[in-house]
Amino acid sequence: METPRCSICKKFYKTDDDNGSGLCLTCRPVNSQPLLKQELIQPGRFGITNAQLIPAMKQAIYNNLPEDLRQLKSAYFYIFERSIKYLKKDERNYIQMHLSK
Ligand SMILES: [Zn+2]
Repeated sequence: METPRCSICKKFYKTDDDNGSGLCLTCRPVNSQPLLKQELIQPGRFGITNAQLIPAMKQAIYNNLPEDLRQLKSAYFYIFERSIKYLKKDERNYIQMHLSK
């Protein structure tokens, strides 16, 4: 088993801590679901960093919610595009598959 590496801070973390999110415990959102919908997707919310957006993108991918991805993209277009390069290949493929017109 490969040692998991955080896709945000690039630190390695224990395989035991891996939940498939690709994020270390520090970078992982504490409470995943509500963060995505209630805190992140809010009209007029600014100052989102890719460190905040990436976990939300990953959640949408793992929960198979392309509509959430679309909302994130329309709300944070610039940072969304920049964040894609930090995702794993299969995650990028998912976005390409579900979000390309
Ligand atoms: Zn990290």
